[in-house]
Amino acid sequence: MKTINDFDFKDKKVLIRVDFNVPLDANFNVTDANRIEAAKPTILKVVQAGGTAILMSHLGRPKGVQDQFSLRHIVAKTEEVLGRPVIFVEDSVGSAVEAAVKNSPSGSILLLENLRFHPEEEQGSADFASKLAQWGDIYINDAFGTAHRAHASTAIIAEFFPENKAFGYLLAKEIESIHKVLNSTDKPVTAVLGGSKVSSKITIIENILDKIDHMIIGGGMTFTFIKALGGQIGSSICEDDKMELALEIMRKAKEKNVQIHLPVDVIAADAFSNDAQTKIVKVDEIPDGWQGLDVGPQTLALLKPVIKESKIILWNGPLGVFELEKFSHGTISLGNDIAEATQSGTFSLVGGGDSVAAVKQFGLESKMSYVSTGGGAMLEMLEGKTLPGIAAIENN
Ligand code: AMP
Repeated sequence: MKTINDFDFKDKKVLIRVDFNVPLDANFNVTDANRIEAAKPTILKVVQAGGTAILMSHLGRPKGVQDQFSLRHIVAKTEEVLGRPVIFVEDSVGSAVEAAVKNSPSGSILLLENLRFHPEEEQGSADFASKLAQWGDIYINDAFGTAHRAHASTAIIAEFFPENKAFGYLLAKEIESIHKVLNSTDKPVTAVLGGSKVSSKITIIENILDKIDHMIIGGGMTFTFIKALGGQIGSSICEDDKMELALEIMRKAKEKNVQIHLPVDVIAADAFSNDAQTKIVKVDEIPDGWQGLDVGPQTLALLKPVIKESKIILWNGPLGVFELEKFSHGTISLGNDIAEATQSGTFSLVGGGDSVAAVKQFGLESKMSYVSTGGGAMLEMLEGKTLPGIAAIENN
């Protein structure tokens, strides 16, 4: 399999699938350019080598052609981030693109209009993919956020470039980071699983049990386990129909020598609010009318050495309701412990929507080894699924 470093891009037209699905405000200003920043190394690699970068992306979920979802809105921000002019093309297929591609000098950057203006994109149409494929000599996929979709531009198109396809730097880095966690020979490997529900994490748990030494459970998931073990959880969030499953996970973990760390104490509140009354109680002695919304100090003290001795850490999901300041301490404290371990050589991967939001909010992003850019794609990889966008590059 070729990597992006194996190509000579000089005078080549290079189709790059990027994920420029960025948030816009009411005036169509880009409010977070992280995804554009993330694709920058790949784009610059191509144009600095004398190739033409033809960027393809989707934006939002348009129903047909809708101006509010036009990629035209992000041209100025893309130029600012890349430090180069960007030529916007009004469509992704047809004569306008043909002319623009033909007339673009080597080293230029073209941005095609939102791929999802054509329903064939999400349908994974081979015909649409072949039309897109005409524009390039080489196909690079750098869109991790859509790697779990079998869309025309993310997977199907690769068939037209059997010898001339590769991952971009971002996608390669995402894959490498997850492999590092799932196939590590460094031990111990620790997974921190928080968030609200067991049900949304169960496939991940089943897939990673064979690969980890410690599983730290936090967040709302905790209470399904505690209730299943006979504890009193007051009005904490709980999935009664998943209690048997929680016990099954504990049995399997024991069999596989995985140590499960459940909280021993919690910050209990009399309401789901920053104004709530709170008290620290044992995790299995939460009074009626109170709910556990964060882990307590004793739990954090017990987790500290586990984090410190870990060589590999995967963090998916907050330990408490971090969006409310009153219940953010556990997540911040764990984040700081992971940051410290990372500084001493531990590899830490943060992935999945809410833990990424948490590390960003608490200024910890740069202190982790890697923070994944693709929520759904990352979760599916952790579940052990083969992602169509990745398979399309890897297979011939
Ligand atoms: P998830 O999307 O499953 O990773 O869940 C993330 C959400 O779980 C966040 O919005 C947190 O506020 C929420 N959460 C974390 N801990 C708790 C808890 N103890 N009770 C209720 N919700 C929680």
